Amino acid sequence: MFKKLLCFLSLLALVLAAGCGAKNGAGAQTAAKPEAKPAGLSQEAAPQKTTTVIKLMDGTKYATPAYIYKSAKPGPAVLVVGGVHGNEPAGALAAKKFCDVPLLKGTLIVVPRANETALQEKIRTLPETGDLNRAYPGKEKGTPAEQLTYGIVKLMKENQVAMVLDLHEGYAFNYENHKSVGESILPGTDDKSTFLAMDAIEFINKQITEPKKKFNVLANPVKGSTAWYANTVLKVPAFTIETSDKQPLEDRTNFSFTIAKFIIANGTGIIAQ
Ligand SMILES: [Zn+2]
Repeated sequence: MFKKLLCFLSLLALVLAAGCGAKNGAGAQTAAKPEAKPAGLSQEAAPQKTTTVIKLMDGTKYATPAYIYKSAKPGPAVLVVGGVHGNEPAGALAAKKFCDVPLLKGTLIVVPRANETALQEKIRTLPETGDLNRAYPGKEKGTPAEQLTYGIVKLMKENQVAMVLDLHEGYAFNYENHKSVGESILPGTDDKSTFLAMDAIEFINKQITEPKKKFNVLANPVKGSTAWYANTVLKVPAFTIETSDKQPLEDRTNFSFTIAKFIIANGTGIIAQ
C-alpha cells in the first residue's frame, strides 16, 4: 500500500511539474518531465526541454515554486524573478509569462511569485517577512526574506546563471516624477547590462506615444536587491525592470514582459525576441 502511494505521489509530481500554471505539490524534491515541442516551430527552433520544479521554503506559508526549464541544446542560464513586492502584481504576471516561452537553448529559471504572502495581501511585504529586495545574499536560517533570497541565490549558483532580471513596479512615471523609478530599467554597472538596457529602451519607447510614459535608463540596482547581488557578486549582467502602476495592469505586464524578453533574446539568445 505504501509503495503504491509513493508511486502515485511520484506520478503526481511529474504531472504537476508541467508548467507555471500548475499547482506544485512536489515539495522539496524535484521532478523532471520532457515536454512536447511547441506547435508551429521547427525541430531546430524548439529542441526538447525538461521542466523541474523546486519549492523554496517548502512546508511554510512562504512556499513558492521555482521553475527550471532546460533545453536539450546547451546554452547559458537566465533567471527571471517576479513578485518580490506584493503590491507590484505586473512583475509577477510578466515573470509567469516566461513559463510559456519556447526555449531555443540553455536554461530558463522562473520564480514568478517570490513573495507569495505579500502578493496574497497585495502589500509590499509583510512586516515579519522583511524586504526581499534588500535581503541578498540571504541566510539559510534568517528572516523569511533572507531565507527566500538564500534559496534564489542557491538557484543562481547551482545553475551558473549568465543573466538575471527582476521585474518590479514604481508608483509614478519617472519622466514626470524623478522620485519614482516607474517606467525605467536599472541595469548593472557593467557595459553589457548598460548597452542592453539602452537598446531595450529604444525598442520599447517606439511603442509608447505619450512622452511622460516613455522608459528611462537609471543607475543602478539598489544594494541588497536581486539584480545588485547578481551583478556585483556573481558579476553577470543583471536588470531591475520597473513599470508604472499608473498604467493599466495588462499594459504594464506586457511592457515588463516585452522588455525582459528583448534583453534575454539579445543578450543570450536562449529565447527569440
Ligand atoms: Zn518593487
